[in-house]
Amino acid sequence: MKSWIQKFVWTNLQHLGVLGVVGLIFEIQLLHWFLLFYLFGLVKLFQSLQEAENEAGGKSLFPFYMTFILSQFNPIIFSQVLFQNLGQIYILIRNYKGLPDKNNYHNKNLFHLPFKGKWMVYNGGSVKQNSHSWEILTQRYAYDFVIADEGGKTFKNDGKELTDYYCFNKEILAPADGKVVKINNLVRDYPGVGDLSVDWKVIDFRGNFIIIEHSTDEYSFIAHIRKNSFLVNEGDWIKKGQVIGRCGNSGHSTEPHIHYHLQNRKTMWFATGLPVKFNNVEVEDKGLSYISDYIEKNQRVSNIVTTPSIKQLPVEPC
Ligand SMILES: [Zn+2]
Repeated sequence: MKSWIQKFVWTNLQHLGVLGVVGLIFEIQLLHWFLLFYLFGLVKLFQSLQEAENEAGGKSLFPFYMTFILSQFNPIIFSQVLFQNLGQIYILIRNYKGLPDKNNYHNKNLFHLPFKGKWMVYNGGSVKQNSHSWEILTQRYAYDFVIADEGGKTFKNDGKELTDYYCFNKEILAPADGKVVKINNLVRDYPGVGDLSVDWKVIDFRGNFIIIEHSTDEYSFIAHIRKNSFLVNEGDWIKKGQVIGRCGNSGHSTEPHIHYHLQNRKTMWFATGLPVKFNNVEVEDKGLSYISDYIEKNQRVSNIVTTPSIKQLPVEPC
């Protein structure tokens, strides 16, 4: 979620080292060079651990790192990361003329925030310095939303229970009209919150998610949804603002939040991430309040609720 996680995710490149192991097993010398990725990964890991702990004000990130490393030994996570890395290459080839950004990409649909009330953009934005994960091309313009109090705290009590988190179990709304093309509802809500660990035994790091097709090249992807909270099914046509499920903590998530991004095709691994232009969103930022199309990290954001105006019927002359 935070930038130290992005840096850590970079170390996933070390997965390419497995090709080196394959080379050793099958005695394919050319593949031995891939072992260097393991070395690269180790160097990156030590760098990012130090930077991350400084950024987190000295807070120990050991549980996060340990569980994240353990998850690399989870064969399902391993293959997902491999797909993600392969997808990166595919996306770069598909977009050899340049990746979409908010200056060159024009959204085909108008989007609402996928929740009611005021939430905080914990992570993500329309520009590089605010990005959720600039290097992961599908999630370049992704957002992580939480509910935070005045002081920025996202939970009450000691934050050791899922129910301590203000956004846990809150309704998730469809960001625009569309058709539900995929639902995953197999993943538990990780109860180990409060120490920054992640669910390394998980069977899908995205947790429970929904993919909504709005048009042929715009798909909403919403993740970490609470298990068994879906109110829609695959194949359903849904309307903007319709309740689709509830906020949870499934998958690789250090605390309950809504992950939202827009992508250009159904299959996430091979989809290009698109900037999201919102419609009728009120932003609070550094004491100012205004309407904005694009939203950025640390802003408090909410949909402007418009009450339908009652049309005055023309008086028919008798
Ligand atoms: Zn996210």
